[in-house]
Amino acid sequence: GEGGKFEVIPREFLDIDFEDVGGCREAKEQLMLIDLGIRFPKIYEVYKAELPRGILLYGPPGTGKTMLSKAAAKELDANFYSINGSDILSKWYGESEKNLNSLFEKAKDNSPSVIFIDEIDALMPQRDTSHEVTVRIVSLLLQEMDGIESTKGVIIMGATNRPNHIDPAFLRPGRFDLKMEVPLPDEKALQDIYHIHLNGRNLEEGMDYEKLAKASKGLTGADVKGIVNACVFNKIVKLRKQMPDVITRSDLKDIETETLTTDDVLK
Ligand code: ATP
Repeated sequence: GEGGKFEVIPREFLDIDFEDVGGCREAKEQLMLIDLGIRFPKIYEVYKAELPRGILLYGPPGTGKTMLSKAAAKELDANFYSINGSDILSKWYGESEKNLNSLFEKAKDNSPSVIFIDEIDALMPQRDTSHEVTVRIVSLLLQEMDGIESTKGVIIMGATNRPNHIDPAFLRPGRFDLKMEVPLPDEKALQDIYHIHLNGRNLEEGMDYEKLAKASKGLTGADVKGIVNACVFNKIVKLRKQMPDVITRSDLKDIETETLTTDDVLK
C-alpha cells in the first residue's frame, strides 16, 4: 500500500472486539464511553463534555494495547491507521514530514479514524545523534495532533510500556488527555484469556481454567497465546507420529476425537 510508511486496516476488515480482549476491564470501560460520545453526541453535549483527542495506553508488552486499539476502532466503525514510533525515526528518514502529513490527511479524509502510534516512547528526544531529528518529528506530530478536531472523528491512540519516558509535550491538555493502564492480567483475567484462546478448539470436557490461570501467574496475554499455539502444535506432532503415511478416513476420525486437556496446555 503506502510503501511501508504506515499500515491501514479499513473498517470492514477490523475483526477484533472488546470481547476478544481478556482482562483490561478499566481500559475497556473507558473506551466504551468514548464510543458512546461518538454514537450519541447528545450525551456529551448535555454535559458539555469534550471527546478526548488522544488516548495513551500504557503497560507491559503483550498485554493487549494493540488489540484494544483495534477493538475501539471497530466499535467506532473507524478506519485503523497504525505507525510505530521507532519506525518513524529509522525508516522515514528524510521523509517524516511528508509521511506524517499524508497519514493525518488520509485519516481525516476517511474519518472516523483511529491513528494508533505504537512505541510512542521512541519519540523522546535523547542526547545523541538522533536528537535533532526526533525533536523535529515530535514537533510535527504535535502540530498534526493539534490540527485535528476530535469532533471530526479522528482519535489518536498511543501505546507504550514506558509511560515515564514520554515527551511531556504529548501529555499536555488537548493531546493525550486520557491515560489508561493495560496491566499484567490477574488470575481472573488469565482465565478469561485462556477461554478466549482455547475457544473453538477440540477441548476435553472440564478444562481446569483455574489451574491454568494459577500456573500462569506473571504471564501476559501474548504469552498465553504462545502457550496455546505451542500446545496445539505439540498435539499435531504427536498425532503425526502415530499416523501411517497414507492417511485414511478413519485416521482423520481419530484426530477429530483427540482433545486438548489441561495437562496438554500446562506441558
Ligand atoms: P506490544 O506493547 O508488545 O505491542 P500489546 O500490548 O500491544 O503489545 P498485543 O499486540 O495487543 O499486545 O498482543 C499480542 C497478542 O497477544 C494479541 O494478538 C493476542 O493474541 C494476545 N493477547 C495479548 N493480550 C491479550 C488479552 N488481554 N486478551 C487476549 N489476548 C491477548
